[in-house]
Amino acid sequence: MLLEVRDLHVEFRTRDGIAKAVNGVSYGVDAGRTLAVLGESGSGKSVTAQTVMGILDVPPGRITGGEVLFEGRDLLKLKEEERRTVRGAEMAMIFQDALSSLNPVLTVGDQLAEMFTVHRGMSRRDARARAVELMDRVRIPGARERVKQYPHQFSGGMRQRIMIAMAMALEPKLIIADEPTTALDVTVQAQVMDLLADLQREYDMGLILITHDLGVVADVADEIAVMYAGRIVETAPVHEIYKAPAHPYTRGLLDSIPRLDQKGRELYAIKGLPPSLTAIPPGCAFHPRCPLARDVCRTDEPPLYQVGDTRGSACHFWRECLHD
Ligand code: SF4
Ligand code: MG
Repeated sequence: MLLEVRDLHVEFRTRDGIAKAVNGVSYGVDAGRTLAVLGESGSGKSVTAQTVMGILDVPPGRITGGEVLFEGRDLLKLKEEERRTVRGAEMAMIFQDALSSLNPVLTVGDQLAEMFTVHRGMSRRDARARAVELMDRVRIPGARERVKQYPHQFSGGMRQRIMIAMAMALEPKLIIADEPTTALDVTVQAQVMDLLADLQREYDMGLILITHDLGVVADVADEIAVMYAGRIVETAPVHEIYKAPAHPYTRGLLDSIPRLDQKGRELYAIKGLPPSLTAIPPGCAFHPRCPLARDVCRTDEPPLYQVGDTRGSACHFWRECLHD
């Protein structure tokens, strides 16, 4: 496995007490595969990713347990300097907000070229040529001219392509994309997602795609991990989860996606709000919102039950949910 997160625990100290942001998360991704990590904000999906990248704010964030194995090496045991090398060359991250990640006073060409002068020791001239190549590769029309422009001169979708180009520059083995298309409108979303998926295949990278939107991952992900209150509540190959979710929370997420074939049908929204991470409900954390909840759910925390050969569900009543 390219990346394997094992039983990760992360806490934050807040004014209201200890916030348990990540509570025993395990997931993995192979080279050439895409894992979608799905959840509402506050589910722990971004904090897990930041821990993998080694960019968690410390303090107040504190890793209290677990391992992050990258090609078998535990990244949590590396010195910050070694960590930086891995982060630059072997894994890269793409964020939602390209405008705040790019430097407004440098041309995009200079920013792309800098990847090669700083990390690869290239001459400025060669690095500039590579910058144009990269912009071509992420399908920015007129790359030769547009390298001379500044970030604000690009549309949101084009800026996100530049972010992808920056992430791809050193040909990392793993890319983590945190809500890469959330700020874009729907057609542009699809184009950027296609581009990411194509590049991921072409370069045989592992891709972790973090999103709150089950609608955008159907065509690009191989596996899905659904997170709730800092835990993984369901994992499955993508086509299986769409056919029949094995967790009521996933079912709720699926039922709240607008579908063209069911126009006029009322959209189901999961009632209530996700819990505060300083006061996660006992038993199954989802029980206050769950239509299937009963007494045992309020006291006994469900383990991640094995469902068939390829899936897992942290629901005592996964059979009911699956066959409903
Ligand atoms: Fe709902 Fe109980 Fe399953 Fe939790 S364990 S998801 S509360 S049925
Ligand atoms: Mg987030």
